[in-house]
Amino acid sequence: MKEEAYIQGRTFIFSIANGEDLLPVLQNFVIENQIKFGIITATIGAVSKATIGIYDQKNKKYNKITIEKELEILSLQGNISLHDLKPMVHAHITLSDQNGQAFGGHLMSPTIVFACEVMISEFTGKQPKVRKTDKTTQLLLWPNPLQIKK
Ligand code: ZN
Repeated sequence: MKEEAYIQGRTFIFSIANGEDLLPVLQNFVIENQIKFGIITATIGAVSKATIGIYDQKNKKYNKITIEKELEILSLQGNISLHDLKPMVHAHITLSDQNGQAFGGHLMSPTIVFACEVMISEFTGKQPKVRKTDKTTQLLLWPNPLQIKK
């Protein structure tokens, strides 16, 4: 499948204050800065509490896990695209505990920041992707996924 490429747009690099809730801060940031399509990458830091989701593929809902302890953010990555005409953050987080054990999932609120450094890259040049509810998965997905014809 041929697809026209996007162009690298603005790059945003910032930190988030201690005590803030990570996902709503990211969500507000992309709306305020009108980042309609892009990636969140190379984001690291620590949290004092985390909420992650693991999607139950059979029952089509997120199982929420709350972790009430100090954790390192080993990696937070995700993307930004449009849903209901507004930029929407979809991010996954990998965390480690005091024993160096790692786990992670779909980033949810509340995840309380101890310290966090964020990098966001915007893509421009053509229409941003728009999320719609996918019938098969019941997830908000981009339309027209690649399929190999058999
Ligand atoms: Zn997810």
